[in-house]
Amino acid sequence: MLYEFNLKTAKENLYDITQNVQEVIRESGVRDGFCVVYCPHTTAGITINENADPDVVTDLLFGLNQAFPDYNEFRHLEGNSAAHLKASLIGASETLIINNGQILLGTWQGIYFCEFDGPRTRKYYVKVTK
Ligand code: ZN
Repeated sequence: MLYEFNLKTAKENLYDITQNVQEVIRESGVRDGFCVVYCPHTTAGITINENADPDVVTDLLFGLNQAFPDYNEFRHLEGNSAAHLKASLIGASETLIINNGQILLGTWQGIYFCEFDGPRTRKYYVKVTK
């Protein structure tokens, strides 16, 4: 089963999509299998990280911006090369294990849609398979 989600982003941020993914797994009826969360954009990505302390997201974005500053030497005319670099580092997808109808995640883990170039209208896909 393939599910499509739309997401309106305001700015560079991480959006917790864990509950959306869990809901489609429930809807699919798959109890044991795999799930791929995929982002079809070049300046956004998908990652798994802590969703207990919101400061972790703040620190991730701070760290990524320190690692990937907006250099004057960038040639890409759209002016968002740093966002492309962050998207490549984070990656476009995550593969998750479905166990007893639940995503197998650690206690502190959540699934994030990572916007590095908002505001944008985005989409992401969730493929659920046995
Ligand atoms: Zn671009």
